[in-house]
Amino acid sequence: MSDAVEGTLYVVATPIGNLEDLSPRAARLLGEVALIAAEDTRHSAGLLRHLGVRQPMLSLHEHNEAERVDQLDARLLAGDDVALISDAGTPLISDPGFVLVRELRQRGRVVSPVPGPCALVAALSAAGLPTDRFLFSGFLPAKGSARRKRLGELTERQETLVFYESPHRIRATLDDLVTTLGDRHVVLARELTKRFETLLDGTPAQLVEQLSEDPDQSRGEFVVMVAGGEAQEEAEQTQLSADSLLNSLLEEGLGVKQTAAVAVRVLGGTRKQWYQRAQLLKDRD
Ligand code: SAM
Repeated sequence: MSDAVEGTLYVVATPIGNLEDLSPRAARLLGEVALIAAEDTRHSAGLLRHLGVRQPMLSLHEHNEAERVDQLDARLLAGDDVALISDAGTPLISDPGFVLVRELRQRGRVVSPVPGPCALVAALSAAGLPTDRFLFSGFLPAKGSARRKRLGELTERQETLVFYESPHRIRATLDDLVTTLGDRHVVLARELTKRFETLLDGTPAQLVEQLSEDPDQSRGEFVVMVAGGEAQEEAEQTQLSADSLLNSLLEEGLGVKQTAAVAVRVLGGTRKQWYQRAQLLKDRD
């Protein structure tokens, strides 16, 4: 048996779109390890080329992960450090790596995270939905009936709900949100850190409408965030007090534009948001 000091498995987060988001530590380690286990070696070759890293790569994906464990363990035992990366973001988060990390930790190997980009955390950090408690549910089932069942199981949850979604299914998922979670506040984070980064707010029905009006909004990668049950009640209370302020200002004879300007000062938010709301309340009268 070798008496070499055992190596470390570094679980390295890589960018979800913007290459500048790779941490200096991640870049250094990728250039130092003996081997990089990558979800898709061809995909990651681009990142490594960008970094000037020439370390050997080995594929590790959902179909061969279990087989790779012994092979990678042998390298660690021989004293080699190994990095695990996925196509984008943090490995193991809706990405391969769980089986490897579980097995290696059970065997007593050193596994060390190198934190960085993660789409769900990035999305939550910019959504303005409660983040003190959230429930990340990964990808919803592809089949409509199973998807609606899963959403139905989550209706009572009070945490902010977070899902990953692909462009092929975003419309179907929003349609299912209309029927299962109704009028909740939803934030759709698209193409984060990329050129067409967009955050859309609305009820599921409003978002369906926005996507129908602008098909470009269905392109790219999505994080879907839904206000939890309790948060929704609070949001309704906030909306009620905002409405009562807007109504009083309108009753005082202020125009919609002036009302929106006052509301921004009192309530925060944007002029556009309060303009639209004040206009709606005025039209309702
Ligand atoms: N491990 C990754 C992470 O840490 O976020 C997630 C990998 S998962 C296979 C890919 C999904 O993450 C996409 O379908 C999308 O839902 C979400 N995602 C990844 N990059 C994104 C981005 N730039 N903007 C929005 N969502 C993104």
